[in-house]
Amino acid sequence: MYKRTALILVAAVAGLLALSARADFQPKAEQVVDNVYAIVGPLGQRSAENDGLNANFGFVVTPEGVILIDSGASCLGAEKLAAAIAKVTDKPVRWVVNTGSQDHRWLGNDYFAGKGAEVIALARTAATQAEYAEQHMQGMKRFLGERMQGTTPLPASKTLTGDSATLQLGGETLELAYTDAHFPGDAWVWLPKRGVMFSGDLVYVDRILGVLPWSSVSNGHKAFKALAALQPKYIVPGHGRVCDLAQAQRETGDYYDFLANKVGAAAKEMEPLTATLDRYQDMPQFRHLYNYDDLHRANMSRAFTEFESQ
Ligand SMILES: [Zn+2]
Repeated sequence: MYKRTALILVAAVAGLLALSARADFQPKAEQVVDNVYAIVGPLGQRSAENDGLNANFGFVVTPEGVILIDSGASCLGAEKLAAAIAKVTDKPVRWVVNTGSQDHRWLGNDYFAGKGAEVIALARTAATQAEYAEQHMQGMKRFLGERMQGTTPLPASKTLTGDSATLQLGGETLELAYTDAHFPGDAWVWLPKRGVMFSGDLVYVDRILGVLPWSSVSNGHKAFKALAALQPKYIVPGHGRVCDLAQAQRETGDYYDFLANKVGAAAKEMEPLTATLDRYQDMPQFRHLYNYDDLHRANMSRAFTEFESQ
């Protein structure tokens, strides 16, 4: 009897520990190559436990300061990213470069700007941030509740014109280019000398990519081909673990091929929507990806609508 009570107690304590571990998600930097780091967030939904850090971030340590790529979804999330960076270097964050306008890409901008960082993005990225700010703040409040306190949406203040732009700091070169895949104005950050690609929400691995009402499958399809042509050695995807081009090809590139070449083609041929979705409901090569059951059908449906009107 005694033993059983003790066991129950141990189980309860273990359960509590697991809970508090979850409640205290701390992002951790992992080295990609010398001075280039990725911070890989959990694959699941935004939550108070993860402070909306359910995406990937990255940073480059240069002699002139740190370049942070994407700033998290809230003030508290940004603070956690800053703590992960501080474990690697005591250099300040000089630049924040945003790859997109979705909440977790930029709602932490204000935190870093308050510490003296300059926030940089391509012009259409910044414009989309301003456009979606209110909607994303409301959405994050639903997920994070009180933990959104102190968060002020700050679209990138230094905007770069043109379809691509090159930045240099402390001997590092960053090339930004539009992908326009997940959100309009999404971009990647490519480090040509390092062979490292921060893809933003163009590449998803481990989980299936999401096609939202404002996403573009044909842009994603095109952008992925352009990414592959650069032959990156390492890809820090928008979501999922750091990967090579082969994995990105299998889990994102092939899926874009499928959406454009099968679903898109059926739409252009004016085949019926439901029959098309039924035909491709079961895709064994993508079924292992997290969120497949929740997103695959809706993804196909949105791809169909997009290609139907082309
Ligand atoms: Zn995302």
